[in-house]
Amino acid sequence: MKKLGKKSPAEKGDNKRSEGGAKGWLKRLFSSAPKQTTAHRNGDEPLVFSRSEHPISRRQMSRNAVKVLNRLNQAGYESFLVGGGVRDLMLEREPKDFDVATSATPEEVKEVFRNCRLIGRRFRLAHVHFGREIIEVATFRSGQESSQSDQKQTEDGMILRDNQYGTLEEDAWRRDFTINALYYNIDGFSVVDYTGGVADLEQGQIRLIGDPEQRFREDPVRMLRAVRFAVKLGFQIEKQTEAPIRPLGNLLEQIPQARLYEEFLKMFQAGQALETFERLRHYDLFRYLFPMTDKVLAEEEGNFPHTFLMRALENTDHRVAEGKPITPAFLIASLLWELVRQRAEASQDTHHETGQRLPENVRLHRAGQDVLRQQRKSLSMPKRFAIMAQEIWELQPRFQRRGGRQPYRFMETPRFRAAYDFLLLRAEVGEVDEELAQWWTDFQEVNASEREKMSSSVKGEGKPRKKRRRRRKKPAVQATE
Ligand code: ATP
Ligand code: MG
Repeated sequence: MKKLGKKSPAEKGDNKRSEGGAKGWLKRLFSSAPKQTTAHRNGDEPLVFSRSEHPISRRQMSRNAVKVLNRLNQAGYESFLVGGGVRDLMLEREPKDFDVATSATPEEVKEVFRNCRLIGRRFRLAHVHFGREIIEVATFRSGQESSQSDQKQTEDGMILRDNQYGTLEEDAWRRDFTINALYYNIDGFSVVDYTGGVADLEQGQIRLIGDPEQRFREDPVRMLRAVRFAVKLGFQIEKQTEAPIRPLGNLLEQIPQARLYEEFLKMFQAGQALETFERLRHYDLFRYLFPMTDKVLAEEEGNFPHTFLMRALENTDHRVAEGKPITPAFLIASLLWELVRQRAEASQDTHHETGQRLPENVRLHRAGQDVLRQQRKSLSMPKRFAIMAQEIWELQPRFQRRGGRQPYRFMETPRFRAAYDFLLLRAEVGEVDEELAQWWTDFQEVNASEREKMSSSVKGEGKPRKKRRRRRKKPAVQATE
């Protein structure tokens, strides 16, 4: 470990892979060097870890990321791999994506790469496209306010726009957590650490850079990110970072509904939805994502809705672990189900002609619409997923109809599978008969003649009702609905 500046021979191409796990190399590093924990102040020289002191090799990186780094360097700009890519490689985990930080402005990046698009207003970025892979290239930001800067803040200190460019050092200090502010320099293969990120990796800590309260105020989504990284890496949120989370949670109410949705996906689709949910509840943050659900859970803690939701999240986690596809619609359907179910059950809405209580699927439809409308005020999802969640709810009563051709027709509908998975969860927690769920499981698995037998021998549902043709009088006036 040494200070930035001169290059050691080790940095210039020692490509030996270190042995042992992340813990192994981190331990070795810290047993031989003085531990740096609090000495990282803005303005200090960074620590530089040479090739033999960290486990990152170019071979673990996306070839396209390597290309971007090299091309920017050749064009005379500084460029580094940064963020989750470096953090995960340091822990010997496989990164989800590779982000690049550079001294080139977005426009300059665009001049270097033909396959480049500039995006974002709040935070202007260059996306370099390689087929389906996108390498995100961000210009160094200063994070400092100045009168002519392109940074905008609200009265609460929230940053609305942050396009004030800066140096590498400034860029490090404006990042969220120390472990996310490590830079890999492909020119020399070293890792540059301004904020103490390597020490925090070693200690398994999520620590905000700078004053935690101020940093959470600047961007309240950092609270959700703290939870996400803690769960993902199995880390602790460091005490001073943790302290303001509960008191400041309500700042999440100011975050645009679509941004919360994006964060929700990252948190709940990464394979640890159940743990994330529990941690969010622990910090009382879940209510800012799903306020109505949080309320039902608070009222009925330990009872059914909690169990149902936990099973649903566990189920999602299993699917992720097995590499099976998941859809946000199923998560949303699960998270809002108890509300929809209760509303539909309580609804006394009647048919405008017959005066009879509306059938269950229609009540579910209306309840679903109401719940989604309210939900959208805090966290809103794309329309297609909202529609699919509604279909999952509305189709539930259809599983009760097993006679004649009905199950055949149902099985062919596009939403059958998702609705069936949902039914299984309901059966698991005792909301519908196990026998019903088992029937549908069997029905899908057996051969044609078995199916015939099954659908004709359902007790009380033997034959489908014959449709009676009713003569309708033409309404005297045009219906206004
Ligand atoms: P992953 O991609 O594995 O989810 P990540 O750390 O790469 O994790 P990104 O959202 O891809 O997360 O962001 C890339 C980097 O940008 C982060 O590591 C961090 O340095 C910086 N960053 C992202 N969001 C913020 C934020 N809200 N405030 C400050 N810095 C941020
Ligand atoms: Mg990333």
